[in-house]
Amino acid sequence: MSDSLNPNFYDQNAETSTLTNPTLVLNCGSSSIKYALISEDNSIRITGLAENLGLDTARIKHTTINGDKLEISIPGGRHKLALQKILELLEQYHFIAVGHRVVHGGREYSEAVRVDEHVLDEVKRLKILAPLHNPAHALGIEAVQAIYPEIPQVVVFDTAFHQTMPPVAFRYPIPKSLYEEYKIRRYGFHGTSHAYVSERASEITQTKGPHGWLTAHLGNGCSATAVYDGKSLDTSMGLTPLEGLMMGTRSGDVDPSLHMHLKRQLDMSLEDIDAMLNKESGLLGISGLSNDLRTVEEAANEGHQDAKLAIEMFCYRVGKYLASLSCALPELTGIVFTGGIGENSVTTRTRILEVMRHFGIKVDANKNAGLFGGSEGSFHAEDSHLELWVVPTDEECRIAQETREALSLT
Ligand code: ADP
Repeated sequence: MSDSLNPNFYDQNAETSTLTNPTLVLNCGSSSIKYALISEDNSIRITGLAENLGLDTARIKHTTINGDKLEISIPGGRHKLALQKILELLEQYHFIAVGHRVVHGGREYSEAVRVDEHVLDEVKRLKILAPLHNPAHALGIEAVQAIYPEIPQVVVFDTAFHQTMPPVAFRYPIPKSLYEEYKIRRYGFHGTSHAYVSERASEITQTKGPHGWLTAHLGNGCSATAVYDGKSLDTSMGLTPLEGLMMGTRSGDVDPSLHMHLKRQLDMSLEDIDAMLNKESGLLGISGLSNDLRTVEEAANEGHQDAKLAIEMFCYRVGKYLASLSCALPELTGIVFTGGIGENSVTTRTRILEVMRHFGIKVDANKNAGLFGGSEGSFHAEDSHLELWVVPTDEECRIAQETREALSLT
């Protein structure tokens, strides 16, 4: 399809009146931009994805308000061009604010903040902690500023929700000066997702609060959090998103001396070790097949031994982490599963709960089997000690809500 915007792409029949005071949510990654335009009451949204940025195959996949799908190719296009096109596609809806998902907020930010010069400088400076993500977020903010200087922008940090962790959970047992002078500590990520699903679980449970939830966000990236009365008390990711659970391509926890050992034994550079742990490990590294659980599950069902081990290790490590995170909670109401794996893989949920066999958990197998493809609900048996929930995450909705709150629009 042409790279110029054909007016026919516009939603001619769109009921723009129902998309009241929409907020544009942007998630600018290193080679992609996810976007969602969300109405004030969260009931209507227009979504899309710009991908392969910088390559010949760069394109925007856009879903209109009526559900029609468009594809616009922008060969070689980078963030600036992609955002220009996205904003052209959406300007007819007169969005009133832009909320950016920003991976790292460092120690400064415990809530969403309006973008000004200082905030933008901070997002750029925190590149030291999120080298792939924060520069792309900054590009996104600047591109919107250039086109719509009047539109207020807000940054919603993935780390902010975890700023309520106490020092006992967020400090590493390493020399104090590294924390005081260089802010080396645990930050945690996936904050908007853990915040959204724990809040939602508290809304839909019959049990009176305050609630203690273990939230398991299991997607390509995976993390688990202990949330009590709406506050994160501990989480599995740390200074970077590498710590914690085994993921699609990330190892999660390994002995920190592995770096030294690989350097001595194989003369690997720190950069190579970092790339190996982030991009070649996890489900992919163990199965030797894929980072995608569906592929690994298929192979395991056909008897592939490494695929079987990859799934067993994944579930064992999630169960072990959830059990240890329960120590952070004054009381434990239940476990909430989310993310592509948590929302869809019935067998993975079962296996993880089997690992936690001392918790008095009883699964209602029929209810569990019915929870996939975006459905929300509980799957604990009546006599289970813990509640079990699947809550599909909605990070965009949460970012739009926090953006409106930061601008006092709600
Ligand atoms: P991201 O972290 O990139 O947002 P997602 O939350 O979409 O990722 O999760 C992707 C993971 O979810 C992949 O491992 C994929 O295999 C897994 N997944 C999605 N649907 C299913 C399913 N029906 N059964 C098992 N795994 C699934």
